[in-house]
Amino acid sequence: MTSPTLTRPELTAADRCDRCGAAAQVRAILRNGGELLFCGHHGREYESKLKEMDADIQR
Ligand SMILES: [Zn+2]
Repeated sequence: MTSPTLTRPELTAADRCDRCGAAAQVRAILRNGGELLFCGHHGREYESKLKEMDADIQR
C-alpha cells in the first residue's frame, strides 16, 4: 500500500481526540498539512466534513 503523504507513526494510547480527549482512533491529514485526531465517535461525526475538505482519513 503506497501513500503520497509522509509516513506517520501509528496512533498510540497517548494520542487523544481533539474534541473530547478520548483515545484517538482516527487521524485526518488536511490538505494544508495540518493533522486532526478523533476518537471513533467524533471520527464518524466529522468524516463527511473531512471528506468535503479533501482530508486524508487514516484509521
Ligand atoms: Zn472524541
